[in-house]
Amino acid sequence: MNYCPQCASPMGEVLINNEIRKGCPDSACGFVLWNNPTPVVAMIVEVEGGVVLAHNVNWPKSFYSIITGFLEAGEDPLECAKRETMEELNLHTLESSLVGVYAFPQQNQVIIAYHIKAAGEVKLNHELDDYKIVPVNELKGWDMGTGLAINDWLAAQRAS
Ligand SMILES: [Zn+2]
Repeated sequence: MNYCPQCASPMGEVLINNEIRKGCPDSACGFVLWNNPTPVVAMIVEVEGGVVLAHNVNWPKSFYSIITGFLEAGEDPLECAKRETMEELNLHTLESSLVGVYAFPQQNQVIIAYHIKAAGEVKLNHELDDYKIVPVNELKGWDMGTGLAINDWLAAQRAS
């Protein structure tokens, strides 16, 4: 963003509560680019045989993850999770539960993660080009982003 969206002045830096932020140098305008994180819904989709991990067309070849999606305006996060499960994998949600909410500063996102028990025949949408179903006892998370949700969900599975 090179120009202020409110008054079209060239953007500069402003000091807010002793922190330098990008903003409009015109104090009468006062626009500040807060750069708030974007909420993202992530789904641990479990079908018969395990959890669906999918490969995004833009990712490195070996990288597979649980599916994610952006909320639409006004959309309930759980409804978003069900919608994305259908849109990306063609699977119907049978049961759902919240796993947790996770900061993902590397992408400036907040991840809202659900466990979705789903059924149907997997058909990938255009964003995905491959998937695998990983048995729960072979599933492993990782230490950021959606991997944190997988780790928490696995820990809860083992505890129950
Ligand atoms: Zn301005």
